[in-house]
Amino acid sequence: MIASHNINTNGFYGEFGGAYIPEILYKTVEDLKNQYLDIIESESFQREYHQLLRDYVGRPSPLYFARRMSERYCCRLYLKREDLNHTGAHKINNAIGQILLAQRMGKKRIIAETGAGQHGVATATVCALMNMPCRVYMGATDVARQHVNVERMKMLGAEVFPVESGNKTLKDATNEAIRDWCCHPADTFYIIGSTVGPHPYPDMVARLQSVISKEIKLQLMEHEGRDYPDYLMACVGGGSNAAGTIYHYLDDERVSIVLGEAGGHGIDSGETAATIHCGTLGIIHGARTLVMQTEDGQITEPYSISAGLDYPGIGPLHAYLARCGRATVMAINDDEALAAAYELTRLEGIIPALESAHALAMLPKMQFRPEDVVVLTVSGRGDKDLGTYLREMK
Ligand SMILES: *Cc1c(COP(=O)(O)O)cnc(C)c1O
Repeated sequence: MIASHNINTNGFYGEFGGAYIPEILYKTVEDLKNQYLDIIESESFQREYHQLLRDYVGRPSPLYFARRMSERYCCRLYLKREDLNHTGAHKINNAIGQILLAQRMGKKRIIAETGAGQHGVATATVCALMNMPCRVYMGATDVARQHVNVERMKMLGAEVFPVESGNKTLKDATNEAIRDWCCHPADTFYIIGSTVGPHPYPDMVARLQSVISKEIKLQLMEHEGRDYPDYLMACVGGGSNAAGTIYHYLDDERVSIVLGEAGGHGIDSGETAATIHCGTLGIIHGARTLVMQTEDGQITEPYSISAGLDYPGIGPLHAYLARCGRATVMAINDDEALAAAYELTRLEGIIPALESAHALAMLPKMQFRPEDVVVLTVSGRGDKDLGTYLREMK
């Protein structure tokens, strides 16, 4: 079955997606919907975006042939090194694109939500670069847990706003950011950090991350003499690094797509963030998608050892790709991710982010042929997770 990344005009991938927003945001979101493609595809945007990706972010990120890991898993394994980007992950690709868009739409102020703080840091970074005022909403629990990222955001000049409602985590921070947006719809641009939120955000973020698969095509051609792999592998929280990894291969049936979501303590444990395995159809952050919720529609608090993956929803594109069978989705538990992080560190000298370790932990569950070409995206570096690694692996 061929899946297409093309959404319909209302922003639906099959039954998933759309824009379920308060009336007061209608014009703002409609303006964005009507302008984002023209702006992103314009020559001036493309020039500035690619110049910044090259000179500021450090792209193209290397496609590294992992020799020892390839021997271990009997395949030809390449790692797409998003961990080498400025600020340490793929999120900066999207943040740069959205701030350029905000400028071109005449917006004067940036807001963002953040869970672990990675998207907050990426947003604060591009706001410093572009001299834009920035307020980042963050659950008070996360503010306490992610102290270093809070200090980074403040040093970059952003105002970090601790959210005291609900469980004081990402879901509550997002609600508060939307509330702010409702109060300042004309002058404020909301930079969303993943392929989530109301249309056009999922499509917009996927396009801004699609530079990843554009580079993979060129780099594979150099390494292997063909521009497609047999397998693409990535972790999914909201879905942006995965969307970037697969974007230019969605309609290429020769390429299998394998995605890893956070199983936490196991999909039957009640402590999990495996939304595709455990979620049901609902509405979250302005989109219709799979949601972790109770029978009466209350969103349940997700759990994962990885702060970047414990999101109670999933991008509508990914829900759709799973539903129609284009992507295989595995739930990876905490202990499997930890072991995979240690393995990559010892075999290749690369300490991955805990999120990325969920992609690596799928390797032992695969059955490759020796000639299979596998590209796995290392979405970020593990410096931020060192405390967890030291605590958990004694
Ligand atoms: C935020 C984050 C993720 C999860 O977000 P996606 O939108 O699913 O990519 C994965 N890896 C790292 C390193 C992150 O910071």
